[in-house]
Amino acid sequence: PRRRTLTTEDYFQGVRAGDTSVLARALTLVESSNLQHQLQAEELLTRLMPFTGKAIRVGITGTPGAGKSTFIEALGLQLVRTGHQVAVLAIDPSSDITGGSILGDKTRMPNLAAEPHAYIRPTASAGTLGGAARRTRESMLVCEAADYDVILIETVGVGQSESYVSHMTDCLVALVSPAGGDELQGIKRGLLEVVDFLVVNKADGELRTACEVAARQYRNALETISGGHTTQNSKVFTASALQNEGIDKIWTAVEQRVARLKANGTLAAHRQSQNRHWLWAIVEERLRQSIYTHADVAKIRPQLEQEVLAGTISVEAAARKILDAYGLRN
Ligand code: GDP
Repeated sequence: PRRRTLTTEDYFQGVRAGDTSVLARALTLVESSNLQHQLQAEELLTRLMPFTGKAIRVGITGTPGAGKSTFIEALGLQLVRTGHQVAVLAIDPSSDITGGSILGDKTRMPNLAAEPHAYIRPTASAGTLGGAARRTRESMLVCEAADYDVILIETVGVGQSESYVSHMTDCLVALVSPAGGDELQGIKRGLLEVVDFLVVNKADGELRTACEVAARQYRNALETISGGHTTQNSKVFTASALQNEGIDKIWTAVEQRVARLKANGTLAAHRQSQNRHWLWAIVEERLRQSIYTHADVAKIRPQLEQEVLAGTISVEAAARKILDAYGLRN
């Protein structure tokens, strides 16, 4: 049977009441690429705005197999048992390539998915990484308005995705597994700088010692990067998501960090600058879309690209022709 169309007011009331079926439909609205839906989503977000911002926003990154879903499930279960309402969202960089999703999947976290105070949103596929990230951010706001007080945003540790997550969270946690040989393999300096907490996961059984060694090496690396600031040491943890060990002390560190940022006013400033970032990210994304889909641009594009490839027109002149066709004159 065809479902009744919801008005913005219906969405608003349902989300605020914590009705998860309306919440799911509100998130679908936010994810939609249909213009009518986008306009309604904007209207809804405007209504929900006053009820957002109260959650602790945590990004969780790591390479495939590092233990993200195991960790999020263990952390999520601990949080719901201590009275929190947890929403799990994801930014899936594979959506660009495969159109499929490897993150934010309920079947990867069956115990957490069964908890009434947890909400796991399967990743929306399709579109660009930037578009996916924008929708995840909007979904986060909707979840906050539904009174989820902890938002966990999962992503895979490849280049850009961490940057997107760090632009919408208060705190970024990277999971690493104890690598054989070079413990720092795959961890880029840039990542170490953007990450707030580094968790060497799988510190159990035979891997325990290797994890402790790796943690020491990460601490040393961080100390070198920061020019000897020992406070950096408190960034590195060992944990076993599988055995549920060390999760609580990581959460305590997250809470303390957010409390400190709140107390000194940095959290509000940080979120304001994130909002400014998204303002322009959205404008740029829309502009790009608008250019690529513009009829007059589409007409000249194949020919111009050919000429650029053949070297019969300069890149600069071709760019100008495209912008002229788009209607931009300066
Ligand atoms: P993801 O791809 O990052 O989400 O990783 P998963 O959570 O799916 O974990 C990948 C594999 O590592 C699975 O076989 C898990 O059971 C295992 N794993 C995850 N956490 C731990 C841990 O703390 N200790 C051990 N020994 N294995 C773990």
